[in-house]
Amino acid sequence: MPAHTVLDRQVLRRILLTGLDDVVHFGRHCVGYDEDGETVTARFADGGTAQGSVLVAADGVGSVIRAQRLPHAHVMDSQTRLIYGRVPLTPELRDALPPAMFSVFNSIVGQDRTFVGIAPVEYREPPTTAAARLAPEVALEPAEDTLAVMFGRRLDRLGRSDRELRAASGQQLREMVLEQLAGWHPLVTRIVEAWTPSSVYPIKVRSSVPIPPWPTSNVTLLGDAIHAMSPAAGAGANMALRDAAALATSLTEVAAGHPLLAAVDGYERAMADEGFRMVQFSAANGTQTLGADPLPS
Ligand SMILES: Cc1cc2nc3c(=O)[nH]c(=O)nc-3n(C[C@H](O)[C@H](O)[C@H](O)COP(=O)(O)OP(=O)(O)OC[C@H]3O[C@@H](n4cnc5c(N)ncnc54)[C@H](O)[C@@H]3O)c2cc1C
Repeated sequence: MPAHTVLDRQVLRRILLTGLDDVVHFGRHCVGYDEDGETVTARFADGGTAQGSVLVAADGVGSVIRAQRLPHAHVMDSQTRLIYGRVPLTPELRDALPPAMFSVFNSIVGQDRTFVGIAPVEYREPPTTAAARLAPEVALEPAEDTLAVMFGRRLDRLGRSDRELRAASGQQLREMVLEQLAGWHPLVTRIVEAWTPSSVYPIKVRSSVPIPPWPTSNVTLLGDAIHAMSPAAGAGANMALRDAAALATSLTEVAAGHPLLAAVDGYERAMADEGFRMVQFSAANGTQTLGADPLPS
């Protein structure tokens, strides 16, 4: 049995979106909402609106809905940066990797808490073949096995500003990381050299600062919109999916006649307890591994 299961988020998104073409709308930027009794109206940048009995903020770490709903809930910059990229898992590279590096997330921590994470993304069956066999209605692009590779360091040790990181091409970011990895094991530098430049981009690592329970309304939240966390525990997307499942269960009970606010309140208490616990755990991991700034006490 593998030590953990690796999922490619693009493949998962395509599977989850199947059959929802007339429900999910892309390209509309939510700018805020208005509450009127039991109705919530979401406002969009194109001037349009959408009404319902519940609004769910699932708009990630920079959530505009959270900024309006819980303006005292802050997101902090951990002062660490990641450079992320993909490496094709060619037969030559596969032969060069020790077998122990497969089916795990490999963390390599060097001096000054410089970090390299290497995660093999291997499909047990090509996704297109699996879809044809299990769910022909799911349209997937062919996908190759890769290594997801991330380099991490404190911003003040990178010697580059955020502006410089954002302006750099994938190739320039790769050169910068190779400079920082001078003297590292040749297998690690070989892997970074193989980064596909178009897949390389910088990430500012941010974390929600936990807040006490809040009075429930019909505007609720899930995932990074309320409990964004350092990726140092690999838990954020898992928590977002868990929230979504729990909220769906609560709202199904409402459809069966349970009071709405009681159902949302029950969901929010459990979600915040567990979500903020993982925020603390992930932040502590980030401090230990990368020297990230700790959460305020
Ligand atoms: C380098 C890295 C590695 C990670 N690895 C892991 C891992 O191994 N395991 C794990 O569980 N988690 C991992 N995570 C965390 C994970 O990516 C997040 O926790 C997860 O994506 C959160 O999901 P979400 O749906 O809440 O938010 P998001 O994925 O951020 O989705 C929010 C969506 O809302 C949209 N949006 C934003 N604002 C608006 C607006 N105003 N109007 C309309 N739409 C809007 C965005 O375009 C986006 O599509 C990692 C994160 C990073 C940075």
